[in-house]
Amino acid sequence: MSDKLDQNEAEAAAARVLKDHCQSSPPIDPFTIASDAHIHVCVMQTQESGVAGCLLRVGNEFGIQYSRSLPNEGFIRFTVAHELGHYFIPGHAERLFANGDGMHKSRGELASSDRLERQADFFASSLLMPADQFGKAIWRVDLGLDGIVHLADLFGTSLTATAINYAKYADVPLAIIVSNAKAIEYCIMSESLKSIPSLGWAKKGDPLSRTTATYQLNERVTAGERCDRRDGVCDLDDWFEGAPEVEMTEEVLRLGGYGKTLTVIYTDEDLDELLADPDE
Ligand SMILES: [Zn+2]
Repeated sequence: MSDKLDQNEAEAAAARVLKDHCQSSPPIDPFTIASDAHIHVCVMQTQESGVAGCLLRVGNEFGIQYSRSLPNEGFIRFTVAHELGHYFIPGHAERLFANGDGMHKSRGELASSDRLERQADFFASSLLMPADQFGKAIWRVDLGLDGIVHLADLFGTSLTATAINYAKYADVPLAIIVSNAKAIEYCIMSESLKSIPSLGWAKKGDPLSRTTATYQLNERVTAGERCDRRDGVCDLDDWFEGAPEVEMTEEVLRLGGYGKTLTVIYTDEDLDELLADPDE
């Protein structure tokens, strides 16, 4: 099944759950939804490195445990919503607990390569940021990082999850990039950016261009300086091989407890005009 079909199925399941549990305006409460579905939710007693949460099954009883290793309410809410995805998306519980009872551990990596994990993330994202609400809210906030921060606050979601969802709705050329000290971990592009012909896609492990504000922020953090945010401009081809010469706004935020950096690059100039006459 394609990613798009997986996503549609997860979004339909989330919409059903919101309707059945009478939740419509943000912040959506995944804890109440779990409790209404008689799923017991608690903090993980023993913390395992890299595990964000898990879904447990004993007979027909389900439970959710979440990690408190990151002091980030948005991350915890997303983790609980992700586990609810495994419970509510048709077929997940049967596949995760093929032998009946058991425990499924989720690693909390956005943009996972595992299909069920990705689908549970799609579910969590559309449960906590319902399409009709998010689609309206995005027009009421500033374009770029400030808007993402505002939306994260409104929907009670982590900056990264909000930024990834934001890229889906943005109608301008825009990319969300999460990086570590030296390299890209993943990149999500808006449809408008993807439509540029000849644009090579930024991949996991690609090194950061030294001229970008992202590289410079990471350098300062590595040197032990405190640097939480840096704004600048970059060229589109600093990030994407074969990209046309287009100047982009670059806004960069250090993600506190994660040791990672969130970058938003975008332009609100008309893409057709920029591509027709790059000197303008
Ligand atoms: Zn999972």
